[in-house]
Amino acid sequence: MGEFELIHRHFTRPVRRAALGVGDDCALLSPAPGMQLAISSDMLLEGRHFLPGTDPERLGHKALAVNLSDLAACGARPLAFTLALALPQAHEAWLAAFARGLFALADAHGCELIGGDTTRGPLNICITVFGELPRGDALLRSGARAGDDLWVSGAPGQARLALGALRGEWPLPSAVLAAVRARLERPTPRVALGLELRGLATSAIDVSDGLLGDLVHVLNASQVGATIAADKTSHLIAANTCQQSPDAVFELKTLALSEAQRQRCVLAGGDDYELVFTTPPARLDAVHAAGARSRTRVTRIGRIDAAPGLRLVDGGGQPLQGDFASFDHFA
Ligand code: ADP
Ligand code: MG
Repeated sequence: MGEFELIHRHFTRPVRRAALGVGDDCALLSPAPGMQLAISSDMLLEGRHFLPGTDPERLGHKALAVNLSDLAACGARPLAFTLALALPQAHEAWLAAFARGLFALADAHGCELIGGDTTRGPLNICITVFGELPRGDALLRSGARAGDDLWVSGAPGQARLALGALRGEWPLPSAVLAAVRARLERPTPRVALGLELRGLATSAIDVSDGLLGDLVHVLNASQVGATIAADKTSHLIAANTCQQSPDAVFELKTLALSEAQRQRCVLAGGDDYELVFTTPPARLDAVHAAGARSRTRVTRIGRIDAAPGLRLVDGGGQPLQGDFASFDHFA
């Protein structure tokens, strides 16, 4: 199968909203008047971002999901994407499964494939997504203000819990492993929540490298600090991520992990693609309503401070002995 046949067979579909899709030198998009384009790229490299032998259908899903997650963090609505693919060989069954996972998620978000590039080489998947939002409405990292509430969506830590089990760091009951492995390999981008947060959140970021590590980007960009209530976070690892339909829920006591290990999964584990965001305290009810409308769990885990730095406190507000550097190494 040649390059053009491969593109035609697996990656060419009828154009819907784009002005021009796959097949010419450029694709064409026509953003609606008053709208801005939000654009982001993410690359997935075998051995670095996913384990060799990962199920191709899940890989197709994840390659797009991590990009949609960036749109979610900006509050943008997905429009279209391009796919640059390096493949060691054109393996028909692998390509069909990859495309199935990719297009299932794309269709769920009305996001169409409009172009890309295909070449032979070590497996590497690079997607660029295009989203749209009303001019000036993008959620940025730089908008957090002292006094704001600090929130996280879903169940951070579950992807790290799965990775640890796959690496043999700890055992997991098979039903728990199946549930959290799906969170690692088939993450749900929080697009619906991101749209709800427009005009509500003062800042937002998606968690790809770990909750604390990504939060630091917000703190730096906003020139503020934060205090996190440890008792609000360690149990999130066993939370169901959806408000109505739980997709990974189990009893904390089924885990053979110490509280400190669980806390590290939640605060430093990567690959969850949850949103961390800030809102003025007066908007608390509005945040819960936004979570309910987007069917996404939202948990208030702390607050933004004027003083720079990150502080972890216990249930009584007392500072915890915590070396945040140790969280970095764990990520
Ligand atoms: P060019 O050489 O002009 O850059 P290519 O020959 O690389 O174009 O690609 C031909 C067409 O197929 C272009 O429209 C390109 O966007 C599209 N295309 C190439 N690879 C992919 C892919 N993996 N998925 C979707 N479209 C692709
Ligand atoms: Mg060309």
